[in-house]
Amino acid sequence: MEITGMVDVVRKQVKEWRHQGLTVGLVPTMGYLHEGHKSLIVRAVAENDRVVVSDFVNPIQFGVNEDLDDYPRDIEADKRLCEEAGADLIFHPEPGEMYAPDFSTYVEMQRVSEGLCGKTRPTHFRGVCTVVCKLFNIVGPDRAYFGQKDAQQMAVIRRMVRDLNMDIEIVGCPIIREEDGLAKSSRNTYLNEEERKAATVLSRAVFIGEDMLKNGERDTDTVLRAMRKIIEEEPLAKIDYVEMVDADSIEPLTKAEGRVLTAMAVYIGKTRLIDNFIAEL
Ligand code: AMP
Repeated sequence: MEITGMVDVVRKQVKEWRHQGLTVGLVPTMGYLHEGHKSLIVRAVAENDRVVVSDFVNPIQFGVNEDLDDYPRDIEADKRLCEEAGADLIFHPEPGEMYAPDFSTYVEMQRVSEGLCGKTRPTHFRGVCTVVCKLFNIVGPDRAYFGQKDAQQMAVIRRMVRDLNMDIEIVGCPIIREEDGLAKSSRNTYLNEEERKAATVLSRAVFIGEDMLKNGERDTDTVLRAMRKIIEEEPLAKIDYVEMVDADSIEPLTKAEGRVLTAMAVYIGKTRLIDNFIAEL
């Protein structure tokens, strides 16, 4: 397995693979890799001849008061995990390799990026779309792998690929959880012991909501009220949003039907965590 910070080295390597008739999968990440990321890489390895993992904390997807400087990083551990998972190349650029000082072109999306996380993080998806578009242009993969953990991000990426005619298959992968239900996340490292326990309210609310839909409840308010109640009972938790939307358009729903995404963002202390489930009704 190789690691490089240079765009040209990635391009040259992928060109060689293409010359040999090999298929290429891409797994975009911000590093500090865990089992959630690993599941994406393992799937990519199974479905492609060669796999590139990008490992880049993308500054332009962080808002001004967000955790860009604190975001955890450990490239040595990331290398080991990628190697174990069977990746072929890690792309780990410095911000300067991705963004020239006079960088001035962004991919901006309406609607799909405006609800849910877009309300609290108004410039986030512009940063995500721009970096993912750049990674697609740098690597030119056949397939790219994203986790349902970031369900709105997946909807946004699928919409970008459709709207801009990018010839890349987007593969969605299920949420990997800790034993007690908490969705794995690089940001879980911010939690102290007490907060870590409190953080299980997110998955507990997810499982309750999932059960209610399974048992036939279709009134969104009834489901959301039950989910919010569980979270509000935890003193360390503060709800940013708990909402039910169409999983593809991210438009709000009053009745649960179709592909329904129930998503939440909750502050546990200062740490903002997200979780969700999708039901096909
Ligand atoms: P990040 O490094 O947080 O930007 O995540 C990179 C990719 O890994 C995204 O597509 C995430 O949705 C995915 N991912 C992160 N955590 C998980 C998880 N617990 N289960 C599945 N996929 C995940």
